[in-house]
Amino acid sequence: MGGYERLRADVVDRKLCTFCGACISACLLRHLEWAGEPLRTERKAACEDCLICYEACPVRGEIGDDEVFGEKRRDRFLGVYRRIVAARSEDEEVVRNAQDGGVVSTILKHLMKSYVDGAIVVRKQDGWAPLPSVAKDVDDVLAAGKTKFGISPNLMLIRDAVLDDYLDRICVVGMPCHVRGVRHLQRMKFELAPAIKFVIGLFCRENYEYDALRRYVESIMHDISAVRKFSVVEDAMLVHFDDETLSIPITEVKKWVPRHCLLCEDFASELADISVGCDGSPEGFSTVIIRTEHGERVFTEIEEEGLLKTTSADLSTIRDIAKRKKEKAEQTSRIYALRDENKSVEEIAEQLGIEQSTVIHRLEKY
Ligand SMILES: Cc1cc2nc3c(=O)[nH]c(=O)nc-3n(C[C@H](O)[C@H](O)[C@H](O)COP(=O)(O)OP(=O)(O)OC[C@H]3O[C@@H](n4cnc5c(N)ncnc54)[C@H](O)[C@@H]3O)c2cc1C
Ligand code: SF4
Ligand code: SF4
Ligand code: SF4
Repeated sequence: MGGYERLRADVVDRKLCTFCGACISACLLRHLEWAGEPLRTERKAACEDCLICYEACPVRGEIGDDEVFGEKRRDRFLGVYRRIVAARSEDEEVVRNAQDGGVVSTILKHLMKSYVDGAIVVRKQDGWAPLPSVAKDVDDVLAAGKTKFGISPNLMLIRDAVLDDYLDRICVVGMPCHVRGVRHLQRMKFELAPAIKFVIGLFCRENYEYDALRRYVESIMHDISAVRKFSVVEDAMLVHFDDETLSIPITEVKKWVPRHCLLCEDFASELADISVGCDGSPEGFSTVIIRTEHGERVFTEIEEEGLLKTTSADLSTIRDIAKRKKEKAEQTSRIYALRDENKSVEEIAEQLGIEQSTVIHRLEKY
């Protein structure tokens, strides 16, 4: 079996794909494309003896902390880190275009001064659909500010950034699943991996299907292009317009969580150089987890230049969210394993000691 056939059989057809895009970049012959999932439209002779796209897939194996950091974690839920702070950009233009404290955009602007020539980021298209893109200057960074919910195969652009745009020093911004994809490409010594100089990971409880979100906003007679930003609080998704804020109940939003997110254990982008999110910080600030030596050097430079103001972050909040995400992933995988054994909803609920409604909800994506 060739690499692509294995990728399909072991990952895509088993519904394990996180849509990170790594396999698409890995095929330097460009036989794979993005079609809502990685797709090879026709069988190629080169695929006969090639396993590259299969080997590039991060879903196939765990990555140990020591492979990235040279040490094991002391914090079971947040991973290896050097320090955690809450921060907000001092640059008003950045903050205006940002989701929270504008920390991601501030780090990118700083990196572009001397460490990287470009970054893989996510812009929006046709309303708020995520569009992976290569930022080459500060305007591109600002245009990518704010959170776009939906699947975004960011890593497919590593190949284009290096081979088409001739960038040999790039930063990747992504979700925890993208960060794992990058670390896996580095571990497998993918030819283009040396170009990845910095990894910024976002926090992520879960993602949502963009089309479902768009349909909902349109069904309540609102134009999604007029949305200023989306944010998620404990019991709702907030849709911010210039003159009003709508609230979508979390029970509705939960229906749009893709299957692979129900099985995902990583909240805090545990393998990034620096991780950024909003949980654990006051309104308008971002929580920043500085993990690597390189991350520490870059963040300290930014602080010393006065580009950010910082305050303390609430560690117990983020640790609790990270813990709950791991527990939920474990629970989902046990529900699916019992379903594989043809157990009924009642039997699964009884065996795991959980509500039947929880089992029913998870099985909607089984
Ligand atoms: C799908 C999703 C779920 C999230 N869930 C949580 C959560 O549960 N808890 C939490 O604390 N934080 C979460 N975040 C992170 C949070 O929304 C902010 O991105 C983070 O606080 C950084 O804010 P900022 O102002 O520093 O970023 P900005 O300076 O505004 O920069 C935002 C960056 O996010 C990138 N980006 C936007 N959309 C995507 C996407 N779909 N995939 C990859 N990169 C993207 C852009 O490239 C941009 O560089 C989530 C983000 C996303 C995209
Ligand atoms: S040439 Fe190799 S990497 Fe490319 S699609 Fe075929 S098997 Fe995958
Ligand atoms: S590399 Fe990423 S996009 Fe490709 S099959 Fe694996 S998880 Fe899916
Ligand atoms: S929940 Fe996990 S798989 Fe889903 S987008 Fe977030 S990091 Fe990726």
